[in-house]
Amino acid sequence: MTTATGRETLGFQTEVRQLLKLMIHSLYSNKEIFLRELISNASDAADKLRFEALAAPDLLSEDPDLRIRIESDKERNTITVIDNGIGMSRDELVEHLGTIARSGTAEFLQQMTGDQQKDAQLIGQFGVGFYSSFMVADKVVVESRRAGLTVDDGVRWESDGAGEFTVENIERSERGTAVTLHLKDTETEFAEPLRIEALIRKYSDHIAFPVTLATTADAEKEPKIVNTATALWTRSRSDLTDDEYKEFYKHLSHDFADPLVWSHNRVEGKREYTSLLYIPENAPFDLWNREAPRGLKLYVQRVFIMDDAEQFLPLYLRFVKGVIDSSDLPLNVSRELLQQNPELTAMRGALTRRVLDMLGKMAAGEPDDYHRFWTEFGQVLKEGIVEDRANKDKLAKLLRFATTHSGSSKQDQSLDDYVGRAGKDQDKIYYILAENHATAAASPHIEGLAAKGIEVLLLTDRIDPWLVDGLTEYEGKSFADVAREGLDLPDGDGHLTQDVMDDEHKPLLKKVKKVLKDRVEAVHISNRLVSSPACVVAGKSELNPQLRRMLEASGQTLPDSKPILEINIEHPLVHRLSAEADNGRFDVLANIVLDHALLAEGSQLDNPAEYVKRMNSLLLELDSDAGSG
Ligand code: ADP
Repeated sequence: MTTATGRETLGFQTEVRQLLKLMIHSLYSNKEIFLRELISNASDAADKLRFEALAAPDLLSEDPDLRIRIESDKERNTITVIDNGIGMSRDELVEHLGTIARSGTAEFLQQMTGDQQKDAQLIGQFGVGFYSSFMVADKVVVESRRAGLTVDDGVRWESDGAGEFTVENIERSERGTAVTLHLKDTETEFAEPLRIEALIRKYSDHIAFPVTLATTADAEKEPKIVNTATALWTRSRSDLTDDEYKEFYKHLSHDFADPLVWSHNRVEGKREYTSLLYIPENAPFDLWNREAPRGLKLYVQRVFIMDDAEQFLPLYLRFVKGVIDSSDLPLNVSRELLQQNPELTAMRGALTRRVLDMLGKMAAGEPDDYHRFWTEFGQVLKEGIVEDRANKDKLAKLLRFATTHSGSSKQDQSLDDYVGRAGKDQDKIYYILAENHATAAASPHIEGLAAKGIEVLLLTDRIDPWLVDGLTEYEGKSFADVAREGLDLPDGDGHLTQDVMDDEHKPLLKKVKKVLKDRVEAVHISNRLVSSPACVVAGKSELNPQLRRMLEASGQTLPDSKPILEINIEHPLVHRLSAEADNGRFDVLANIVLDHALLAEGSQLDNPAEYVKRMNSLLLELDSDAGSG
């Protein structure tokens, strides 16, 4: 019997309330996973207690055999998941089950569309957890007692999942947590022992603690253990099925979807550890949040030590989920100690290579999966080129690009694909940086290369300016920005230098330069244009304009720099310019040629009003020509 005191009704935090609503209304399929989530939480609670007991053995001694008990009651239509793990104090209960949403949740929720299917997918990225109970229950009661607290410190939480929950103090003789689901009338199947047993086998076989099942009818009997109850990663690969690996992943990650691939390894010898690493199919909602938890679940000799041990993998592999179980690290290892542990550098190196090899294998063997991976995580992996010089070559092979060859915005071409197609006299890998795919693909800078059949990488991700900087070369070919002065094109019959090209048209170039002297650094004849009259390029040592725009957008002030104007001497508009050389219209035309070159590369005009004035004066002339002609 319990006596209730200190009863309090609290509102769920707005974000939690929204999540609950979505959970209840969008996730109508696969409701059975609520049991996996509850057992997963119970198992985490047991892990956490075992960890705390390393320093305070008394916490465990009163009830030393950690286990998870499921009870069902068909008459009352309930199912209860009971653990004797760490438990929760009143404050913890209020905080964990109601008020604190993960940071970034609000932004995440803004992406919701109202389209049930899409939202169900999105919510999958969030991870479901405890709240999934409300998919099958119209009331959930949690009773808990924190390890180390007394019988009087029990607490009860109750909610129908709408807007509020209540908490009150109770007496509770057992340590740990009991979660009781009062099932909806439509969900009576989840009180059926056979159904529950099948679900435990399906989803929770790998849980390292015994999971038992009892009905109210056989309360007196010793309940039977339903699962295998050994930590999955300690079993040998040949004993494990794909489904077991997948279920374990979902337990680890609370992800809805299956992982794309995994890699399970035991390292023996000087250093001993087991790792099980997974690549998810979907990016988590907080992939770009610097503070988001990341890293592996760390065990030392099968004792859980911590979640999110980020020291085992570099930041650019933050999407990897998994477990590491070390035999060498001390049981009392902390985050700080991990940082100083010399063993760790070697382990981190080995695990990093393991992930890159796993990705390489997927790229070669399962290109469709790899494409999925790339779409979700490609931009993160690119950070590796900048951060991890030691693995640059491995990483470069994993990169995928949109190029002029593929003719779509899909990033699906590798550098090997590119190099394989390049002519043998081509010693460069050409690329263009632009704000978006359309701008890149239509850029004047690539016309000449396209006409010669030379492929260009179309780079539009924010990180790309740094990426090409870090890559420098691949298979002996250096990277060349097609929007930079002095473009060096492969040309069977030898190509003309800039000086030779310019020489022939000196007077025109001089005149244009004179008119545009405040706006451009220099004016040259171009070798890269076909159908456009002009383009602007950056000087050899100048910042790329795309990078410049990004830095400026982020608030940096950069020294002024003027572009170089290149003109297409074959173009009718340039002929016209030449013809107008002694005319008042020359100034207007020259300026417009430059304006358009700037617009085409995605730059903004310093003085748009001037441009409009120039255009209008030309348009008016057009009108008077038509009228008089
Ligand atoms: P997650 O498990 O992904 O953190 P949940 O919503 O499932 O998210 O749970 C929120 C938190 O509530 C957990 O992180 C844990 O601190 C606490 N919790 C849930 N179930 C239990 C339990 N059985 N015992 C102790 N704490 C629990």
